[in-house]
Amino acid sequence: MIIGGSPTLEDGEAEGDTTGDGDGDSGDGDGDPATGDGDGDPGDGDGDAGPFVYSEYDPDGVVMIDALFVLTEAAVDEIAGQGQTPEQFLDWRIDDLNAALARSLVDSSTVRSLGYHVLSEDDYMRTGAWPGPTDFNINAALGWLSTYRAAYGADKILMIASTAESQSPAAWGGGAVSSYWVEFLPINHEFGHCMGGGHCNEGDPDSYNFGFPLAGYDEDGWPYPSGLSGGTMMCGNNVNFFSNPEVTLSLAEIEAYVDEGIMQAQDYAAALGPGGSLQLGHPIYANMAQTWRDNELPAARSVPTAKYPGDPGTYYAKDDCAGFYADEGYTNLVLELCSGETDQDLADQSISSVMLGRDVHVNLYTDTDFGAGSTCGGILERLAFSSPSLSAICEHHGLENIDGGVAAVAVYPPSDRPTHQMFEGQFEFHSSGESPFCSSVDGETLTVLRDGVAWTGTAAIFEQTLALPYSIEFDYLSKHVGDDPPADGISVFFAKDAGAYAGQVPPRETLGFIADGTGYAIELNIWTNQVSLRDGDYITIGQTVNTSTYTDGVWVPVRVDVALDGVTLWFDNQQILAEAVVIDDSHARVGIGAGSGAYTSEFSVRNFALVPG
Ligand SMILES: [Zn+2]
Repeated sequence: MIIGGSPTLEDGEAEGDTTGDGDGDSGDGDGDPATGDGDGDPGDGDGDAGPFVYSEYDPDGVVMIDALFVLTEAAVDEIAGQGQTPEQFLDWRIDDLNAALARSLVDSSTVRSLGYHVLSEDDYMRTGAWPGPTDFNINAALGWLSTYRAAYGADKILMIASTAESQSPAAWGGGAVSSYWVEFLPINHEFGHCMGGGHCNEGDPDSYNFGFPLAGYDEDGWPYPSGLSGGTMMCGNNVNFFSNPEVTLSLAEIEAYVDEGIMQAQDYAAALGPGGSLQLGHPIYANMAQTWRDNELPAARSVPTAKYPGDPGTYYAKDDCAGFYADEGYTNLVLELCSGETDQDLADQSISSVMLGRDVHVNLYTDTDFGAGSTCGGILERLAFSSPSLSAICEHHGLENIDGGVAAVAVYPPSDRPTHQMFEGQFEFHSSGESPFCSSVDGETLTVLRDGVAWTGTAAIFEQTLALPYSIEFDYLSKHVGDDPPADGISVFFAKDAGAYAGQVPPRETLGFIADGTGYAIELNIWTNQVSLRDGDYITIGQTVNTSTYTDGVWVPVRVDVALDGVTLWFDNQQILAEAVVIDDSHARVGIGAGSGAYTSEFSVRNFALVPG
């Protein structure tokens, strides 16, 4: 089943909770390593002088898949009603998932919890989507999370709404997101879907990405109808293992797992015979452990890590404040700012590391005026976690280095959407997931969509408007790394009513152009290799030109001349398209959208200008 372009699989409540049955021993707190106390003292470095390197691997060389719980406010209230904090309610569940991985002999990767993020009414209004059934939420979650996803570096999202909001026939998992309600959290199973796993195999040859029924598979890959009941996490979901033919359990081991609640009690001795053993997988039909391994590195790389590898939780001594340091590793405190405070006077300082209190996030701007000083606005790096090296995090995030270049900062509670989004550059950004961003310190380069971000629509809308005629001019670059083809493309839109973007996310199918009947777009589609003029409903006007506009990392000049009686496209100094059409000039906004599907590409523009014709 395809939802939102991303493969997902649903799981009915009847399928049962995860082994260990959900309520587990969540109250025990279990040391709470994720909120270890750091070393605290402002100005007091942690003694680590670097060199600092951000990585998708932990210090032991194990791949880290970063997972963020996203909760609605009603879910937080419901959890509180059970006498628990979100940490108490959630933390052990990732531990349980990692324990299942270890038991299943997956030791090349681990899931790292990034904690939790709480949605607010702002997120619903911005996207025009309010919490509903789980299959709705799974598609809305990335738009709700928006730019926070990059700030947290969250590869996988576990979306949890309240039971009242979202109780529905099934939990869902697939792609980046899994979707639950408070009373139904089959996390290991849904996370398995997000790592490429299917359910019980049903005669599908040569596909090992499935769960294992304890009764086993026949030679055609169908579960035997009788024998032991239940199965591993993806098939039956009452044996807390992922299938792996290399795992063979003796009767004594099974007995111990039954005692721990990891396997259900039944008469294994009768089914397996005296001295018998149970192989928990099949090399052709059930090797979810190998499926996980095959997908772990792409999963970990899907969003660059934002929490320093190996950091158990480093927090500034004051929960509501942040410390800014002249040197890496939190040494030489320059400045302390607290929640709600900003500073635009840092150009003469040289900030190299930042330590956050538990209850704040931080925005770092290379532009003194929060982006107002240039076309795009310079770099804005949002921190959800302490960073011992701004140089290292910028390198890992593919940004120009802002070490020593931070000119303005804002410190705010994570719930403060206006400050999180505060950016005074001349573009406003919209996205169904990861947002456009300014990617050069000089403030002239805008990355409309990053390579590797699948199933996403974005739009960057320019502040300035002009009366017709005018030209939209910019340099354009598309670039993709990998063997799969680059896709999908951009839309250059004009004479548009931008109002629709205030309460709706840009659709990826129309390259970020909201087809609300207003405006026009030139599509430069590098998947279909088509260029055409589209009307406000995204219907083609005139001819479609078949030509590649993929630039393979090279900047090329683009100009769109818009007059009352027609539109002309110049691409790399060639006239590609000219359509005579009467332009409805009742709206005036211009901008650039982009879209991706399973295949992706970077789409960037620089030196964007709106020029009177
Ligand atoms: Zn399922």
